[in-house]
Parts: sequence; structure tokens; C-alpha cells
Amino acid sequence: GVLVGNLIGEDHVNYVMMYNMLTGIRIAVSRCQAKIKRPLSTEDFTAKHKYSFDIVGNELTPSAKYDFKFKDYAPWVFRELREDYFGLDPADYLLSLTAKYILSELGSPGKSGSFFYFSRDYRFIIKTIHHSEHKFLLSILPQYHAHIKNNPHTLVSRFYGLHRVKLPRGRKIHFVIMNNLFPPHKDIHETFDLKGSTVGREYPEAKMEANPRAVMKDLNWINRQKQLELGPEKRALLTAQLERDAEMLKAVKVMDYSLLVGIHYMKRGNRENVRTKTLKVFDPAVPMMRRKTTMYHKGGRSPEALAMRLAMGSSDPKRLTEDALVDKGTGSQFIFYQDEGGLRATDEENSDALDMIYYLGVIDILTPYHTKKSLEHFWKGLSADRHKISPVPPSEYGDRFFSFMKAIMRGGGGGERFKPDYKPE
Ligand code: ATP
Ligand code: CA
Ligand code: CA
Repeated sequence: GVLVGNLIGEDHVNYVMMYNMLTGIRIAVSRCQAKIKRPLSTEDFTAKHKYSFDIVGNELTPSAKYDFKFKDYAPWVFRELREDYFGLDPADYLLSLTAKYILSELGSPGKSGSFFYFSRDYRFIIKTIHHSEHKFLLSILPQYHAHIKNNPHTLVSRFYGLHRVKLPRGRKIHFVIMNNLFPPHKDIHETFDLKGSTVGREYPEAKMEANPRAVMKDLNWINRQKQLELGPEKRALLTAQLERDAEMLKAVKVMDYSLLVGIHYMKRGNRENVRTKTLKVFDPAVPMMRRKTTMYHKGGRSPEALAMRLAMGSSDPKRLTEDALVDKGTGSQFIFYQDEGGLRATDEENSDALDMIYYLGVIDILTPYHTKKSLEHFWKGLSADRHKISPVPPSEYGDRFFSFMKAIMRGGGGGERFKPDYKPE
């Protein structure tokens, strides 16, 4: 669960897949981007654009190193999401993902078998998803889009694109591109993945010393008597937004999602930084030439970034200056990502007296409640306390999730409610 990736070089088993993913994204996204923006229609939500790549190339697709097929799903919907609601600069987006064909692979941190890849600058994550998750995202895309539009400060995963690559022997890989909640420039000292369930929700404390960056769970949070240190203002905002987000997730009947909480202790700073650039740049496994390219971690500040932005005709000329680029991507327009990309802890007077920054988001939101889960519910329901196990129906899941998240905030009553044995109401 530690967010350290391995750079994928040409000899890596997944190099071809990565190359195909990035080539497909580059061509598909820039083709959509080249057209004049127009309002969305209902057909846009079900649109699929197909591309066929080969080593020769044709009028639609330039020649590529390998033969493969690529599908871009609902490109106009994702374009609107990226530009109008997620505040992404189109040139930055393409550049971060495809300027250099290097991703780092995190492997499969969860039980689901999904693979995670970071863009070179760590701003974006590519997650391979199961076909059922892919179908589910398409089916809820109208509701997801409406929620993002009406909730600019939502904590729900930001999906920037949904694609599929098909390799010559027919293997199909679906994937989404989403935001990395954790910043490239700050060390995350503690990580929790919280669901509001206690059954099986513990990372063994005994193993923490050996793996200080392991992702901890609900019971670790409770046993360590943690709380989110937020003053009345931020507490009220966060509670209100989480409630709205949980309502949407209940409405689309999804479950199994969690609140990811990353904590950066400002006093500890970044000295223990093993996660990002230091490791990459000095990784002896990486040939020297590639090491140099990994130094441009703020992709947007490299000469290529400026060139790309000029070529794509950035609407705001101010963005072309170095200064304007520095705070790019910290998402200062988003309340919960306003302090160095996260949310700074505050005291009861709402002042920044506490030296902590939280990085928060609701992740893994593509598991619908049917088939597998209802079976699991049946079997686990026989043995454990029904309310504490994680596969409960989506409305119960959402309510339990939200009441737990209220409880973990300072003044949220977590201290008393979690002792001696926390039971959600
Ligand atoms: P499972 O279904 O078994 O929970 P999964 O493969 O669906 O696993 P996720 O739950 O989405 O995986 O994520 C696994 C871990 O990867 C998270 O606990 C978190 O540490 C990290 N992670 C996932 N999404 C993000 C993100 N957007 N930003 C930063 N880290 C993330
Ligand atoms: Ca998960
Ligand atoms: Ca999952």
C-alpha cells in the first residue's frame, strides 16, 4: 500500500500496454480538444470513439510503435468535466501524461487486481478497472456529471477520462484517469483508508514499524484515538460536502468506497521523502538519460510545457508566465484542496495554529451493489454483526460512512462513540 512506484522502461512487461495507453490518450484527447467547444447533448454520454493504430499510420492516427485499438468513451463529457469543473488546463493534462512516455507502476495495492500508474509528475493516476466497473461508470455518467457540476467542492474521485486499449491478441484493458490526491512535493506521513466499518478494518499495528507508510484502516484510526483537527468553519464545510457526496453515492447504489486521508506533518517536513522525486531521480535502476527527464516534476514549468501551451493557444496569456504556473494544480479554487493541495488543520478559532495538512478524497466509487456483493452480504451476514460488516446495502453503507466521517472530526463525538466498542447507530 505504500505509494512508491517503479518506473516502466522499455524492458518492463507492461511497457507496451503503457505505450499504447499513452499514445491513445494523446491522439484521442488532442483530437477532441482541437474542435470548438459546444454544449453537451445526451448522445455525448454514450459516445465511443474508436481508433486503430498500426506501424504504418493513416489519416486518423499517426504511425505507432505497435498495432492496437483504442476506444475513447464520452470524450466530450470528460472534456467538459476537466475544463469547466476540475479546472485543468488541456495542455498541462496532455503534457503531464504524454510528454515523456514514462509512468511509474504501483502494481496492485488493493485486493481488486487493479493496477495503478502515476504520470511522470505524479499529478495523475491511471487505474485499470474491471469491465463491470467500466460499465458502471458509463451507466452513472449523467448523475456523476450532474453531481460534479453542482458540487464544485466535491470530495468524490475526479475522473478525467475513460478509455480502453485492445492488444492484438484480443486482451481488453479498461482504465480511468483520475487525480492523485497526494501532492508530488509533500511527504505523506500517515495514510488511512476509512469506510466506517470495523470488521476486518485493521492494518496490523505490529507491522507498522517495518512499514511506516502502510495504509491504515478504521480500527487503526480508532485505536490511535485520531481525529481530524478542523475548526468550526472547515468542519461545517467538510461535513456538508461529505453528506452531499454520500447522498449521491447512495442514489447510484454504489458501495465499498472509502475516505482516503493522508496526513502531512509540517514539522516533520519532507526529510523522509521516499515517495517521489528523490527516489526516482537517484534510482540506480534508471538509466542516466531517463533520470534527467524525471527532474521536471512540475511538468508545466519545463520548456516543453510552455511550448505545448503556446501551440495549443492557451486562453489566458498570464498562464504563460512562470509565476502563474507555480501555483498551477494546487487547486486553490477548491476549498478542500486550497492549502498546498490539501486542507490545513485549524483550531477552534479557525486559525492555522496546527501544523498539519490533510489530503482527503472519496475513492473507489465504482463498485455497484449487486451480484458479488449481495452474495458476500449473505454469507458474512450469517456470522458477524450485520451493521459492522462492510457489504451492507448502499443506503446503509452511505449512512454508516457519513456518520463515521462526522464522528472522526474534532467535536464529532468520536472519542466517546468509539469507546469501548464503536457501534454505528
Ligand atoms: P480494493 O477494491 O481491494 O479496495 P482497488 O484496487 O479498487 O482495491 P482502491 O481502493 O481504489 O483500489 O485504492 C487502493 C489504494 O490506492 C488506496 O487505499 C490508496 O492508498 C491508493 N489510492 C487510490 N486512489 C488514490 C488517489 N486518487 N490518490 C492517491 N492515492 C490513491
Ligand atoms: Ca478500496
Ligand atoms: Ca475497488
